Amino acid sequence: MNAESLDPGSDRNATLRLVDWFDLERVQNAHVLVVGAGALGNEVLKNLALFGVGHIYIFDRDRVELANLSRSVLFRADDNGQPKAEVAARAIKKLNPNIEVHYRLGDIRFSLGEGLIRRMDVVIGCLDSMGARYTLNRLCYRVGVPWVDGGIASLHGQVQVFLPPDGACYECGFSEKHYEEAGIRANCAPIAVREIELGRVPTTATIASLIAAVQVQEALKLLDFGRWADRSLGGKVFRYHGDQVATDRMELAPNPSCPAHDPFDLRTMVTLPGISYRDSARALLEAVGPYFDGEAVLYFEDEIVVTGKCECGETLDVRQSLRRLRADPPQCGACQKALLWESALQMTRYSSPILHPGVLDRSLRELGIGPLGIVLACAVNQEMYFELGADWPGCVSPFDVGQEPAELR
Ligand SMILES: [Zn+2]
Ligand SMILES: [Zn+2]
Repeated sequence: MNAESLDPGSDRNATLRLVDWFDLERVQNAHVLVVGAGALGNEVLKNLALFGVGHIYIFDRDRVELANLSRSVLFRADDNGQPKAEVAARAIKKLNPNIEVHYRLGDIRFSLGEGLIRRMDVVIGCLDSMGARYTLNRLCYRVGVPWVDGGIASLHGQVQVFLPPDGACYECGFSEKHYEEAGIRANCAPIAVREIELGRVPTTATIASLIAAVQVQEALKLLDFGRWADRSLGGKVFRYHGDQVATDRMELAPNPSCPAHDPFDLRTMVTLPGISYRDSARALLEAVGPYFDGEAVLYFEDEIVVTGKCECGETLDVRQSLRRLRADPPQCGACQKALLWESALQMTRYSSPILHPGVLDRSLRELGIGPLGIVLACAVNQEMYFELGADWPGCVSPFDVGQEPAELR
């Protein structure tokens, strides 16, 4: 460090260099994904940019509305109608031109692949629903990337930190009722289990800035975990009660039978540069063929609905992931009714020329795989993971390039 670099008149990081626990170089090299660019996400992104986190990725599905302006530091009235992820990217790039910012407009259920998560040092969740948190938690646990969850109401907020593969994860505390509320499982209900709207919880600028500050502080610790391991919020929840000006912190209980702790074995993973999530499952199966001695089979994390029998007796050819179906259930051609959960769905997790060959004609996207997703293929006594490498780096837009936002879904 030379004297010049400590000159507050010429070095934007002069003060940061004086913070004894802050490792500027480590932070400048860090890759951090922020999922959700609402009130909380705005504050998180602002803090990351001020600290100079070098590679920031922003993922969000919504567009700016005027009502967001009461608690979103990065949005302006002229941004009305623009994608939040893109507007936030532009705003933080202005705050700190030294950082690299990428964004993607999309729905977390369909548009975020394990391969993007795996490239991150830390993921910060600024989400407002259980279903979205469930999905992000699964993605992070599959590829072993720590994540920091924040949640806010108008006076109360909380932060939880999850450290895969160990400790409690977001799903460890789930009961059957939670799975239903998150829209993951449902019995005797329409197949379109749209997330139960618990009434939009109003949030404020003060609680957003307070909780986001704790999230970013914990994220910085994860970047330098050796120093902070025994003082991190890992496996714990921090809660702030604004009405009482009280806080508490609790250990989260791990659930030994929680299904989220099933990491992908990436040691032998192969990135396929020619395969995208827009390609057919058949193209993927052909590309993985040379890696196996025998006939390979694709395995899908998300169940595939092959057919469904409508109430009227008609059988529908579906061949789409259950997750996609729930968001947008197909209609019966004969009676025009939407497919129901009770509709005798024929489901599978496998596809090969022998097992459900019709599924191979569908795009990986229709089968529930996100861009830069990672898919398992197996043969007798052999299994291997494959990353859809053609989606990188195109699945995220660097902010500078002013291209159209990457499409929804
Ligand atoms: Zn768990
Ligand atoms: Zn029908």
